[in-house]
Amino acid sequence: MTAARHRPQRSCVACRQVRAKSELVRIVRTPQGDVRLDPVGKLAGRGAYLCPSLRCLEQAVKQGKLSRALASPIGPEVIEAVREALSEAGTEAKAPERRFADAGA
Ligand SMILES: [Zn+2]
Repeated sequence: MTAARHRPQRSCVACRQVRAKSELVRIVRTPQGDVRLDPVGKLAGRGAYLCPSLRCLEQAVKQGKLSRALASPIGPEVIEAVREALSEAGTEAKAPERRFADAGA
């Protein structure tokens, strides 16, 4: 892939900073109305993006930005999953296969 000039960009719902989509954590509301972490960024549904930063996560949750972006309440288990993903990933927020992938439905 030589698509360097064509990297999709998204902004963090908390701090609004625009970053490469691949650097952000995606949370998705599926067509079924399920809100969950989307580790690969490919789940269908309405997505919200966050910096891989606990600060942005807290801010997005506390200020209701995440639920507003997804037009859906965010369950504590979702927040927990995101927090875990962030702390596991450390500075690198890339984790193609997370256990969350088969925890759905
Ligand atoms: Zn942010």
